Amino acid sequence: MSQPDLISYAGGWEGYRVAKTTTIGTGKEKELQIELVPLPQQSLQCPTCGGRCIRVHETTTRIIRDLPILDARTKLLVHRRRFRCPQCGPVLEALSWLGKYARVTNRLADSVAKLCNVLSIKHVANFFCLSWDQVKEIDKRSLTERVGSVDLSDIDIIGMDEFALQKGHRYATVIVEPHRRQVLYVAKGRGRESIRPFFDDLGLDGCSQLKAVVMDMNGAFEEEVKARCPQAAIVYDLFHVVAKYSREVISRVRNAEANRLKDDKKARKVIQTSRWLLLRNSRNVRGDDMLRLQELLDANKPLFTVYVLKDELKQLWRFKCREEAELFWEHWFSKAISSKIPQLVLFAQRLQGYIQGILNHCLWPLHTGILEGINNKIKVIKRVAYGYRDHDYFFLKIRAAFPGIPG
Ligand SMILES: [Zn+2]
Repeated sequence: MSQPDLISYAGGWEGYRVAKTTTIGTGKEKELQIELVPLPQQSLQCPTCGGRCIRVHETTTRIIRDLPILDARTKLLVHRRRFRCPQCGPVLEALSWLGKYARVTNRLADSVAKLCNVLSIKHVANFFCLSWDQVKEIDKRSLTERVGSVDLSDIDIIGMDEFALQKGHRYATVIVEPHRRQVLYVAKGRGRESIRPFFDDLGLDGCSQLKAVVMDMNGAFEEEVKARCPQAAIVYDLFHVVAKYSREVISRVRNAEANRLKDDKKARKVIQTSRWLLLRNSRNVRGDDMLRLQELLDANKPLFTVYVLKDELKQLWRFKCREEAELFWEHWFSKAISSKIPQLVLFAQRLQGYIQGILNHCLWPLHTGILEGINNKIKVIKRVAYGYRDHDYFFLKIRAAFPGIPG
């Protein structure tokens, strides 16, 4: 095999052969240019109607990037043909390895998209010597193909949650099928109107099939759900209730304790530096940290109380039997009230108003981690991306991260 034949064979450019190879530059700047010309073909097929074309209408040379060959950046000079189809007029020849108006080969696009799952656009662009915009467009196209359209039939439970688009002031909403772990819908905003198009897509039949909707008790979604699917049970998930407890009870009691101890610098310091310890899941605190936590709680009775009651509150989501759960709640509620810790009393009284939605969990025992998992994954996607300005792209990333497990 001669050298160009070997390269043609290894290159996999179906329908083409190598006419010439040129190496430009050295070291990191080394670039390989491969000129590709069409193999003489017997039939010229129209990609639109499948019919036979009579002749080549015109040939233009395009510069296409391919995967690097060994250490050399690789550019292809492709003689691209346009046929004349008797039915359709001039048509661009379809190639198995190159998209219609693509500037990179399909396999380079695939590699870019794969790397974009774990690296930032900037890193991928640097790696392949492509521009930031090129990498983004390649990834966006690949994501669009991968996620496709969502099948909304046979959905009886959904979970909904909001997340920050930009630090704290712009929000978006995500709707998920928890059993399949599939993101069904992502949209800007966090009000009633942001989820309205989802229910429109679901249709009247789909809405009437819905049995339960899991959400945060603070959200504006409840009214829309009640209006569109009055039969669906509203379920409040553990993740949001515990997060609210951490914010409204633990953090506030900690601040109050720190204020109370403002004359005792040492004790105050211990409390001020304890935020992480107190908010962490107790199962994840070990060794010296466990000792620190113990000392902190021993010295601060209100902190100890709210800390213990947080762990107890979580137990509420373990019950399968609604009556037992209700008893457990009454017990927890009376402990909270009799603690006389103002922040805890207020929280318990407010939560009482939402208790039906919490007890509904017994009927619809979903894996409570699902909304938390999605919430965390969204944060990771956002961190890798260093803030997406293109929201459609960001939403595609979220959907691709939760494509659903086939049932
Ligand atoms: Zn045709």
